[in-house]
Amino acid sequence: MIPLARTTAASGATIPGSAEVVVCGAGIAGISTAFHLTRLGVHDVVVVDPRPPLTLTSDKSTECYRNWWPTPHMVALMSRSIDLLEAYADESNDRFSLTRRGYLYVTADGTELDRMTSDAHLIASLGAGSVRTHTKASGVYQPADLGGYSSDLTGADVFSSGDTLRNAFPFIGDQAVGGIHVRRAGWLSAQQLGAWMLEEAITAGAECLTGEITSVQSDKNGITSVVVDGQATVTCKSFVNAGGPLAKAVGRLVGVEVPVHSEIHQKVSFKDHKAGFHRSAPVVIWSDPQRISWSPDEHDFLVETGNESFLGELPRFVHGRPEGGTESPWALGLWDLIPKVTATPEWPIEVDSLYPELVMRGLTAMLPAMSAYCDGLPEHTVDGGYYTKTIDNIPLIGPIGPAGSYLCAALSGYGIMAACAAGELTALHVADGPLPPHADAFRIERFDDPTYLRAITASASAGQI
Ligand SMILES: Cc1cc2nc3c(=O)[nH]c(=O)nc-3n(C[C@H](O)[C@H](O)[C@H](O)COP(=O)(O)OP(=O)(O)OC[C@H]3O[C@@H](n4cnc5c(N)ncnc54)[C@H](O)[C@@H]3O)c2cc1C
Repeated sequence: MIPLARTTAASGATIPGSAEVVVCGAGIAGISTAFHLTRLGVHDVVVVDPRPPLTLTSDKSTECYRNWWPTPHMVALMSRSIDLLEAYADESNDRFSLTRRGYLYVTADGTELDRMTSDAHLIASLGAGSVRTHTKASGVYQPADLGGYSSDLTGADVFSSGDTLRNAFPFIGDQAVGGIHVRRAGWLSAQQLGAWMLEEAITAGAECLTGEITSVQSDKNGITSVVVDGQATVTCKSFVNAGGPLAKAVGRLVGVEVPVHSEIHQKVSFKDHKAGFHRSAPVVIWSDPQRISWSPDEHDFLVETGNESFLGELPRFVHGRPEGGTESPWALGLWDLIPKVTATPEWPIEVDSLYPELVMRGLTAMLPAMSAYCDGLPEHTVDGGYYTKTIDNIPLIGPIGPAGSYLCAALSGYGIMAACAAGELTALHVADGPLPPHADAFRIERFDDPTYLRAITASASAGQI
């Protein structure tokens, strides 16, 4: 077949006249899909995005990962993703600084500790590794390495008293009565992971072009072409919607209503010059709701500014981690206070001016040294983006709409850790490769099953942390 000439989009990018697969979106989901397509031997792939790669949501995350999930298919997806992360870290000479320090869930409530422990046994039974319990009298705890990802410890260590917990983590405050250290978990550089996968894909023949996909055409046999910036047509056989928070709008281009909504989530980076955050810490998560003890002046200020809601009980799961190497002064904090939900995301997102103060105060519940900043916040920046979610908080990966149309979206607050397996699974669908046993759990057809719908309405959300 004679290739069609390249055309020019409104963005100025020259667009090829044809491609085997067009991927809409150069976030971590779209890039991972393109990369895995090239690994499966599909090289004629074009990724299209009006923004520079990875700049809408995928560079705003806390970049944490874990295999610790309450359902079998999420354990399977994340375990596969972490297998791939480790393999790509080996292959790239650890370009994206994979750091396996774990997640430490901490509580001041004995009942909550019992619940966390029983959940740990359930999650272990789903294939996430075994549970080791440490009491005053028993248990040999193996600390995490400060860097790298070579440990083969999986599962979790349960600390059944505050003393055993503080023995391993002396920086945790006195009110903690125990905790759980999840071991196949940690963090990475999402931007570097994405950059590496994109470079690999381009080396293998893929292209990444600047432009917005404004329409998608199909006939009775399926997808035929897309239009970029309203003027440049690319004929193609397959189309992947990896539009992140815009997946709903992109879905309408192929005539489907993607069942997602988006929530604003923020994060704060602190320049921790008073060493409130111990540099050897894993990801630390305070698992209890809490009230902040504001001073009388602060109390009055919150009332006067209409922020009374911060005087009452605030949600569980304020969390954070050290950022950068052991010499870096930076730390990250995140607290999902009252997420604003929308079906039509807009940018720039609205950043809450009280957010850094709230996160810092919340962290003092488990990290008393953070109270050094109660008299004045250190230098900090706040950014954030959207968690794009389904009602079951499980991704949408697979075919949707006309033949040749696919979706890799709804990656919620775990899209960095899921990206490798989600992109691989999408690529397997597109290339008609062998699908893993967990593939069906992520298809959109699950929402056609009334029994499934009743079950998810009755159960708690899968969570993001
Ligand atoms: C504050 C915060 C903390 C987080 N922490 C974590 C964490 O610790 N661990 C973790 O795993 N995840 C975390 N996440 C979640 C993670 O960042 C997201 O799940 C992930 O980045 C989503 O990637 P994506 O590729 O789907 O979307 P995006 O990165 O938003 O990419 C979508 C792309 O599609 C493009 N697009 C849309 N419409 C079109 C169109 N018509 N034509 C062309 N291109 C289009 C957009 O321009 C965009 O570039 C966090 C998120 C936030 C906001």
